[in-house]
Amino acid sequence: MPTFRAPRGTRDLLPDETPTWTRLERLASDLATRYGYRRIETPMFEQTAVFERGVGEVTDIVEKELFRIAPRSEEAESWSLRPEPTAGIVRAYVQHGMQTWPQPVKLSMTGSMFRYDRPQAGRYRQFWQFDIEAIGDPGPAVDAEIIELGSRYYRDAGLEGVEVLLNSIGDAACRPAYIAELRAHYRDRIDALPPVERDRLDRNVLRLLDSKDPAMTAINADAPRITDHLCEDCATHFADVRAHLDALGVPYRLEPGLVRGLDYYTRTAFEFYLHGREGQQQALGGGGRYDGLVELLGGRPTPGIGFGIGLDRLVLALEEQGRGSSAGAGAPTAVVVGADPADTASRLRIATELRAAGITARADLARRKLGKQLEGASRDGAHFAIIVGDELAAGEVQLRDLPAGTQKVVPVADLAREVARSHAAHRHGPGASD
Ligand code: AMP
Repeated sequence: MPTFRAPRGTRDLLPDETPTWTRLERLASDLATRYGYRRIETPMFEQTAVFERGVGEVTDIVEKELFRIAPRSEEAESWSLRPEPTAGIVRAYVQHGMQTWPQPVKLSMTGSMFRYDRPQAGRYRQFWQFDIEAIGDPGPAVDAEIIELGSRYYRDAGLEGVEVLLNSIGDAACRPAYIAELRAHYRDRIDALPPVERDRLDRNVLRLLDSKDPAMTAINADAPRITDHLCEDCATHFADVRAHLDALGVPYRLEPGLVRGLDYYTRTAFEFYLHGREGQQQALGGGGRYDGLVELLGGRPTPGIGFGIGLDRLVLALEEQGRGSSAGAGAPTAVVVGADPADTASRLRIATELRAAGITARADLARRKLGKQLEGASRDGAHFAIIVGDELAAGEVQLRDLPAGTQKVVPVADLAREVARSHAAHRHGPGASD
């Protein structure tokens, strides 16, 4: 038999890891709701043209990393797995006439993205993003709202040392002149450019600015800065975004080299980094304004802004800080065990009644001796073992508090209430940690 493995660049999230993921997904959904962002789900694949137009053909994401789906011969369409959420969400905005809804339309999605990247730590071929989009608001206040929301997400997740890097990349009015000047800067130094960067010079010169190639550090240090070339409208917008962030007390650092890899961005661009990790191409998350995107995908000109926060890198960072999955997460409150190994029906019935009453309970369904069943309950980290024995004829069971080592007889009719009460008293009692 061949040995099957998860495809390269993908991972199975095992039950010991998933409590952290569940917590982060819930936090994302709670925060999105609290800020008025409503859930949307779009397909995991779209017509390739949605990404070619919406992300940009001269980007790594489309040129090298797009997961193309080989079409069946009778289907002429070309599809690709989504490498990022914004293009699909904006496609949905246009398709469903969301321009006629009250603006802005505030949307959120958390799900898998796919990039045919070279796998390495923190870089996978399937990864998860928490995404936020506000479509139909030109800012600048909503720009600050979104950056503050992203910062809060990391803080509430328990990650320390997250920094916001901020820039403005101008718009169609001021960027062309800047790009011409930037290109001239690199042309003057063409002999020093690494071949990859030389190749990008004519196609997407902005990308050279955030190159991580050490040879580019000196060349980029004295490159013209977009923020010195903003038109009046963009400069005002940028100043207003900063003023709003200051008013909210959100710290940020201006980073003139931050351009983001996607063509559709205008004006505000930002990334979240762990302090001291800025150089490693390992942004925790990022986003920006995309005032040209709705029109590119066939809608009326409509401004928009959003972010994508990578959950995989957040989990890695939390683990590094010792804040990953907590041991014992998912332990049952009660395990129902029995003196008669064969009487699985009674154990299952009592566990079912506890579950119906909202209690996390497991029945030991193995036909093994009571001692073994009790060992299993302790190993699970259960708070209670419920021992079904002869008392059952009188409608009673033994309730054993495993950490305390105490035991008492409880009528089955009162069992759920008694377990809930004792469990709550234990969790909230003196010295309780949660
Ligand atoms: P980007 O759209 O490239 O700015 O990505 C937004 C966020 O998604 C990044 O900051 C990462 O946290 C995450 N991300 C992007 N690509 C990958 C990948 N290949 N593997 C894991 N996370 C990724």
